[in-house]
Amino acid sequence: MKRSQDKPQILLDHHLKALKLPVFLRERTKVAAQCVTDKADYAEFLLRLSEQELLERERKGTERRIKAARFPAPKSLDDFDFLAAPSLNKKMVLELARCEWIDKRENTIFLGNPGTGKTHLSIALGLSACQRGYKVRFFTAAGLVTALVEARNEKSLLRLQTQLKKIHLLIVDELGYVPFSKTGAELLFEIFSQRYESGSTIVTSNLPFEEWTSVFESERLTGALLDRLTHRVHILPIEEESYRLAQSKKRGRKEEPKKNG
Ligand code: ADP
Ligand code: MG
Repeated sequence: MKRSQDKPQILLDHHLKALKLPVFLRERTKVAAQCVTDKADYAEFLLRLSEQELLERERKGTERRIKAARFPAPKSLDDFDFLAAPSLNKKMVLELARCEWIDKRENTIFLGNPGTGKTHLSIALGLSACQRGYKVRFFTAAGLVTALVEARNEKSLLRLQTQLKKIHLLIVDELGYVPFSKTGAELLFEIFSQRYESGSTIVTSNLPFEEWTSVFESERLTGALLDRLTHRVHILPIEEESYRLAQSKKRGRKEEPKKNG
């Protein structure tokens, strides 16, 4: 007798698994009991379950996208102190965090000295994009060039390029710290060319545009690259000194009176 009563339950669980509805499977008994208490009807029961399923799916998708982006550190706008960077256009940063520029396939460039928060901000914008459903991938410029050169040597360049084309927001951090080989510069240029009007890119650099030639070691290539990158671009200069340096100076000032007293 008991077995035949269990049968629909077992079948239901089986079907929910097959339909890939884990939250329905896990929560259905609990939500059913709540609905009895609340005198909620079947539509309400289904609504509650499907809402929970949807929320979990979104949460897991975001988690997956954040993992796939390979951010070097967890940083968000919530832990960015805008007061410490008064030269930064805060309004524009908050606007960019809404990601409409990614739909328009525009680019963003952060320029400033080392330690001014360029990497922090690019991760924060990347995170915001992940939360809104965009595919993001973070690279240092040197890391991306290495990956491209290696892929070319292993005859898998096309595969890597195809993967990168599917990325909505590519972050290229620290352009300018290391000059590239001729091949490296050309391969990176090709990526920027392929993204032109088809995907968004964030570039961070400690060098003003005039000095980018020293990275690509070719005026022609630098000109062509800047032409593509800056066609539709949001440029955010940060003119403060290093945040960490400023923080340690502040700490030093606070500690000084102690030393004297
Ligand atoms: P950059 O990439 O410009 O060299 P980073 O983004 O790596 O600088 O910043 C260096 C460190 O200082 C990081 O740990 C970053 O989180 C922190 N930092 C920089 N600016 C700020 C800021 N305005 N508010 C909070 N943390 C900051
Ligand atoms: Mg950095």
